[in-house]
Amino acid sequence: MKNILVTGATGFIGSHTSVELLENGYNVIGIDNLYNSDKDVLSSIEYITGKSVKFYEGDILDYSILKKIFLENNIDCVIHFAAFKAVGESVEKPLDYYYNNVSGTLNILNCMREFNCKKFIYSSSATVYDKDNPIPYLEHYKKSATSPYGYTKVMVEQILSDIYVSDKDFSCVMLRYFNPIGAHKSGLIGENPKGVPNNLMPYICDVAISKREFLNVFGNDYNTVDGTGVRDYVHVVDIARGHLEAMKYVLISKGNIGINLGTGKGTSVLELVECFERVSGKKINIRICGRRDGDIDEFYADTTKAREILGWESRFDIEDMCLDSWNYIKAHI
Ligand code: NAD
Ligand code: UDP
Repeated sequence: MKNILVTGATGFIGSHTSVELLENGYNVIGIDNLYNSDKDVLSSIEYITGKSVKFYEGDILDYSILKKIFLENNIDCVIHFAAFKAVGESVEKPLDYYYNNVSGTLNILNCMREFNCKKFIYSSSATVYDKDNPIPYLEHYKKSATSPYGYTKVMVEQILSDIYVSDKDFSCVMLRYFNPIGAHKSGLIGENPKGVPNNLMPYICDVAISKREFLNVFGNDYNTVDGTGVRDYVHVVDIARGHLEAMKYVLISKGNIGINLGTGKGTSVLELVECFERVSGKKINIRICGRRDGDIDEFYADTTKAREILGWESRFDIEDMCLDSWNYIKAHI
């Protein structure tokens, strides 16, 4: 049985990926400092899978805990989720973001080197693509960023390619997620950000449970189907399956590649709101306001590479995503 270290294991994507790994016969060793998640996620994972995560509560910035994990477990592969992820906050606190997201990753990569572990899956993002690229985004397109958060992803991708240049035994997949939403079918795990949500779906959910009065729609004058921003929403369980496939791939290969995880389809803000209203039976009050800094009108993924290299394709549609997000949030009011 392979031992997989999952950083950020109790977070939104880390918890769903841990479920997928456990259900497919892998041992999961998890680390999280619970900055943006709760420990009770572990019992939900256990309830769903009948298996448990070997969990270490700790910080990836603390080399001694990483070393302890590698000493106590024979780690075959690392899937690295732990990071700060709020774009707006990263503009206010750049140093915190570079420290956590870049130095934290360097700590893990150093520890992997010390223990001769060469298999790595990295949580990258569609945010690494330069906004002037044509759509759909292809993996070789020009990279850049518009926020410190985005730059942490671009920088780590560069670090990972440099490592591969220096060590041809290194094997890494940088998964560039588009917009992960939805939740596990059980309604036991999902996205429950601490504080005011930055992303669209958690905000819609807050309005649906009357935690907030209305959704601010950031601009209706974009060059899109209805003037509102278009994104490639992808179910978190599909994203988790993408990690499973990427992990199988790195275990038997060498190299460093970036791969998009998206559906290849765009959905506007108003389309997502309408779909959520339909499946939940809840009215989502909206207010049109100004554009959010740094937003662009439209982007979605080209998913050919994921299909050809990983044999991965998304399975869930927007209705599934809205329904599963709603079922999760209803159960966690
Ligand atoms: P999340 O906040 O739910 O999960 C991240 C987890 O990492 C949290 O549980 C947090 O407590 C933990 N963490 C943060 N810093 C840590 C540290 N120093 N030590 C230990 N644990 C730490 O976020 P998520 O949505 O699951 O995102 C996971 C990864 O995917 C992140 O790297 C994020 O940048 C990337 N990503 C997310 C999205 C998205 O929309 N959710 C899109 C693209 C990329
Ligand atoms: N959005 C919005 N109101 C919100 C949050 C987001 O109108 O409260 C819009 C945003 O402008 C974008 C889309 O919803 O067009 C997705 O935004 P999100 O922050 O979820 O993802 P990202 O912009 O990072 O792709």
